[in-house]
Amino acid sequence: MKRTVTILGATGSIGTSTLDLIERAPDQFDVLALTAKSDVRKLTEIARRTNAKLAVIADESRLPELREALADTNTRVGGGPAAVLEAASAGAEWTMAAIVGCAGLEPVMAAVEQGGTVVLANKEPLVSAGELILEAAARHGATILPADSEHNAIFQCFDFARPERVRRIVLTASGGPFRDMSRAEMANVSVEQAVAHPVWSMGAKISIDSATLMNKGLELIEAARLFPVDSDRIEIILHRQSVIHSLVEYVDGSMLAQLGSPDMRTPIAYTLAWPDRMATPVAPLDLAAVGRLDFAAPDPERFPALRLAREALDASGARPAVLNAANEVAVAAFLDRRIAFLDIAAIVEETMERYDPQAPIVIEDVIAIDREARHKAAEAMKVFVD
Ligand code: NAD
Ligand code: MG
Repeated sequence: MKRTVTILGATGSIGTSTLDLIERAPDQFDVLALTAKSDVRKLTEIARRTNAKLAVIADESRLPELREALADTNTRVGGGPAAVLEAASAGAEWTMAAIVGCAGLEPVMAAVEQGGTVVLANKEPLVSAGELILEAAARHGATILPADSEHNAIFQCFDFARPERVRRIVLTASGGPFRDMSRAEMANVSVEQAVAHPVWSMGAKISIDSATLMNKGLELIEAARLFPVDSDRIEIILHRQSVIHSLVEYVDGSMLAQLGSPDMRTPIAYTLAWPDRMATPVAPLDLAAVGRLDFAAPDPERFPALRLAREALDASGARPAVLNAANEVAVAAFLDRRIAFLDIAAIVEETMERYDPQAPIVIEDVIAIDREARHKAAEAMKVFVD
């Protein structure tokens, strides 16, 4: 029996890796729905290749173009945010959530409400609305699996039957392209330098997050949501080779780690086959060629994003949603060359000082907090734009 799959954010880096695995096993998977923001050409190409039932473009102004491009196929088309939600709830047994940012929140909720397997690469919704997403998953019988390499590693090593035997979770961080730079040197880095990750090839937003280490901050919050471990027992360690994807330490002193080549197809394959495993074309890890594994404590002075994320997690309530929204605004401004690299964390901090709303109770609260935090971040940013 074939499994039906939907990919939200199918044209991105994670979407492409997911499609690569699915297209290698055409006897196992049927593509139900694919979504993209605005890249009609790429969406058309993959919809044709996979014979998808539904292709949705979030930017509604591109719908006529998409309709024309797929007119001679059986693929139904849709456009706009409501159509993205329709794709998310079209009934797939397995959904990859790979939209970037909190734009993925409502699609994730729609997918969860179907009660199938929802694979979260899209970490921002988990940061902003983690508890609500997990509650909804429990209510609707959905299975949430983490695709983020660190959380996938922890998932593989974590003894869910005996969580009290876990002493610590250790998240590894490559340190990003500026791991060896001083603050003074970081002040003048360009967008090109910031998106050039030393190990992973990823979308622009997460590449900038990796350079500020906000990505690790978001992952800290993500880990606290996904695993039954208190925040003071989640640690971060710099590990430049990105070979160990994270570790779980038990009370007896054992540390279990998952290792592999830095290729997202391994964690994605794990979620596609779970609880089984499937073969992938990922290059086997050649430990002798890697030679050595380095570890170091991260420096919160050079990377204030780590401190901000830890503060947001400890305060919880609406703080993680404000942190995330402000970061999305600041990263977009940096990518637009409107602010400098070090302004990103400064804007997040300033926004968190200006805006401290009450804890969200329902998902609409998170959406309102996210929207207001974006306004506040845009105001806070005026100080930094020259
Ligand atoms: P990307 O920028 O390459 O792709 C993003 C996808 O989302 C594209 O298909 C784009 O069309 C779509 N999209 C963007 N904005 C949208 C919007 N407003 N509405 C609807 N669709 C929209 O990003 P990526 O690197 O693939 O990352 C996707 C998510 O996975 C992010 O949350 C990221 O943090 C997470 N993630 C990525 C990696 C990686 O290796 N790339 C690793 C771990 C986690
Ligand atoms: Mg990660």
